[in-house]
Amino acid sequence: MPDEIPEAAAYLNITVKELEERYLLEHEYDGAIILAPRSKPDSSECIFLTKDKRCLIHPVKPYECRKVFGCEAANRHKNIRDIIARRWR
Ligand code: SF4
Repeated sequence: MPDEIPEAAAYLNITVKELEERYLLEHEYDGAIILAPRSKPDSSECIFLTKDKRCLIHPVKPYECRKVFGCEAANRHKNIRDIIARRWR
């Protein structure tokens, strides 16, 4: 969600610009442009997933991650994405 971006940046002690450049990627979904965690360069895993399979930003993890168990994009639920797209419009 848009308001989660500054929270995640503050949690990582970096600027919003740094968060966007290092960790986020624009996605188009249902007519909305959404900033979401990018994948690791060498896999399809979320960039925030640590080697021991923990979320690096757990206390401030994205809305979708709090609503849907798991870190694999394929497991995400369409209803959650529709809610997110509405918030970005
Ligand atoms: S819960 Fe998983 S998918 Fe969500 S930000 Fe954390 S590591 Fe990434």
